[in-house]
Amino acid sequence: MSANSLPASESRPVGEQYASLMARYERLMEISRQLTSTLDLNALLDQIIQAAIELTESQAASILLVDPQTGELRFEAASDISSGTRDALIVPKEGSVAGWVVTHGEYVLVPDAPNDPRWFQEVEKSVKTKTRNMLAVPMRAHTRIIGALEALNKRNDAPFTADDVNTLTTLAAQAAIAIENARLFQQNDFIAELVHELRTPLAALKASTMLLMRPSLPEDRRHEIIATMERETDRLIRMTTEFLDLARLESGRTKLEMAPFDLRELIDETVTVVRQQAQERAITINIDAESVVVEGDRGKLKQVLLNLLTNAIKYNREHGLIDVCLRFPQERGQDTVTVSVRDTGRGIAKEDQAHIFERFYRVADSEGFTQGTGLGLIIAKRIVEAHNGNMWLESEPGVGSTFSFTLPRQSYKSRRAATSPAH
Ligand code: ADP
Repeated sequence: MSANSLPASESRPVGEQYASLMARYERLMEISRQLTSTLDLNALLDQIIQAAIELTESQAASILLVDPQTGELRFEAASDISSGTRDALIVPKEGSVAGWVVTHGEYVLVPDAPNDPRWFQEVEKSVKTKTRNMLAVPMRAHTRIIGALEALNKRNDAPFTADDVNTLTTLAAQAAIAIENARLFQQNDFIAELVHELRTPLAALKASTMLLMRPSLPEDRRHEIIATMERETDRLIRMTTEFLDLARLESGRTKLEMAPFDLRELIDETVTVVRQQAQERAITINIDAESVVVEGDRGKLKQVLLNLLTNAIKYNREHGLIDVCLRFPQERGQDTVTVSVRDTGRGIAKEDQAHIFERFYRVADSEGFTQGTGLGLIIAKRIVEAHNGNMWLESEPGVGSTFSFTLPRQSYKSRRAATSPAH
């Protein structure tokens, strides 16, 4: 292949070369067996990285995968890039070695990375080691190319050899199939969780119908049972719709309808929706917010605010307070807004705080609130993350909880600045 120039064969005696090749091959087989038995995707990616470093005697390795939904190429694992940097980095299909490998389905040898036009310079800013040379091979699962595996800086300043190409190609093929298996398993896991959660309301419905069939059932009891059935069917409907919402968000299939709007107006509007519900529990809601225009999906962000507010009402005490605060730094260059919803409820224990944004998680003593699905918060967090924001929680048991989220302001103009004539 013209894109790759392989170095001349090694200077070691043939017998020695053959023995080391066999040892390498045996090790490759051993690693392949380990890979196919790992179903945890992150653990698997780490194993592949370590195997690539060991088998090609390199300094570092990276795995880049094509997102099945968006088609974007991203670093999924790398021995010398921090996970934060990795997650934020989309590698262009044109103008990167991995992009070339994924598009052409062939390996690439880069003997002099810094002077190679295919080299994606952006990565270099975030890695500890400087890349000298590199070998990248496609990761092919069945007929599809799912990504690229890269080995960087062959040790002792040596060039990569034809054996390295063969070994890394075989490893990448095994790794690709193992990744596909782990992904399938993850999806099944997600569905298994839903099925498990659906069983509780279904069991309640089944028990209710059995009771209703008893001819001797008193009328008031019958009404009670019908009310339970209505509540449980509502919860089933909510669970399935919310589950689909979440699955769409997590797979990147949710399209955000981005437009500028006043966040303060949205807060007012959302508080109006829940005001009645709050009054029923004698809860007061205060708003401390100035107008600020943000760019986002207004409908989806309303869903986020509604979730936080209804939780702040549901898990508050009677006669409690809720403060909704909107903060945005006035200085130039500060481009995020922060919204927080603070309640005076029972708070959330430290051990529960770590799990509160997990699917279906409900705090043990709030299980009595059968109307909950345990999906609201994770959906809210995913919506905020889809806007490149963050969501977090601060809480003190017995005092209350504050849920906050940030949003980038993007095309920010304060309402006042936008409407007042320029001087
Ligand atoms: P749910 O539909 O159960 O309310 P969420 O995902 O919105 O689902 O919330 C998950 C769990 O987190 C709730 O069941 C509750 O135990 C806890 N929680 C959420 N918000 C609060 C809050 N403001 N105060 C105390 N606990 C809360």
